[in-house]
Amino acid sequence: MNKVLLISTGGTITMVRDRKTGALIPADMETFKAYLPELFAGDIAVDIEAFYPLIDSSDIGPESWRRVAEMVYEKYDAYDGFVVLHGTDTMSYSASALSFMLENLNKPVVFTGSQLPVGVLRSDAKENLLTAIEIAAAKDEDGNAIVPEVTIYFEDRLFRANRTTKRNAEHFSAFNSYNYPALAKAGVHITYQPHLVRYSDPHLPLTLHTKFDTNVAVLKLFPGIQQNIVHALLRTHGLKGVVLETFGAGNAPSDRWLYRELKSAVERGVIIVNKTQCNTGSVEMGLYAVSLNLMKAGVISGYDITTEALLTKMMLLLGEMPERAKELLGKDIRGEMTVAVDN
Ligand code: ASP
Repeated sequence: MNKVLLISTGGTITMVRDRKTGALIPADMETFKAYLPELFAGDIAVDIEAFYPLIDSSDIGPESWRRVAEMVYEKYDAYDGFVVLHGTDTMSYSASALSFMLENLNKPVVFTGSQLPVGVLRSDAKENLLTAIEIAAAKDEDGNAIVPEVTIYFEDRLFRANRTTKRNAEHFSAFNSYNYPALAKAGVHITYQPHLVRYSDPHLPLTLHTKFDTNVAVLKLFPGIQQNIVHALLRTHGLKGVVLETFGAGNAPSDRWLYRELKSAVERGVIIVNKTQCNTGSVEMGLYAVSLNLMKAGVISGYDITTEALLTKMMLLLGEMPERAKELLGKDIRGEMTVAVDN
């Protein structure tokens, strides 16, 4: 019998409606389990580890990422796969973070949650959770995990976690992976796309990275942005990394002051990565004259990476290997971005 460890952090999926007030409150795991007897009725053995108390994902950050990653690391040999229950709001950040923390992963770690609480009749909780468990336990004829990556399963798609973004606060299909196709689609059968899956070398041991440096910021450009604002942000004491959200294919206003502010920050050792504000497509610095200054200032390309993946990758690299952070931010390390060949 395949074994899956279910790690519950909280989120809407674990909530029930309070009979007295009508408000949504986190249930304890016993109540949660009572809503889903199917969890223990199939041919996959499921054990549960839960945060106490369960939390909303707005309260999740590096400390919780560490807890989840350590649970996976410590129980790695005892299970065939892992499912993480998590609120949808920051799931893409957490799942991206885990993809960078767990190096040489050879087993599935599937994040899921739901838009409606488990205790609501029309809830998407049951389908999401049961399919995530099936995916976490799935093996090919040779006994190898079919998708040994950190992923997000939601509605009917399985995505590489570090390619996802929460796109909808209302619909059941809450997530999308704009720049990389789904790794599987669930209908009557689950159809996997093994050619899209990233496989780690099975001979290398799982390595856990847990140190984050959170001295980072997102600077979103907009028409009319003022020098004093940019100046203040880039001069923030202790600042080490900036996600620069640019226009289109990675473009920025051509004002001289912007060039000077960015160049001076880079010279002070701040790593600045260019990330387009568009969901789909890639940064292509040098395509338009308005991105040449960014190149000259020492800003590096984030290609088609998501903000969620870029921020978590940046924090982890700055914490774990600051001397290599800049080099690795320009490279694909877990399938999180497509680096253009001519760059
Ligand atoms: N606020 C909830 C959370 O992210 C929303 C959800 O789970 O869908 O924890």
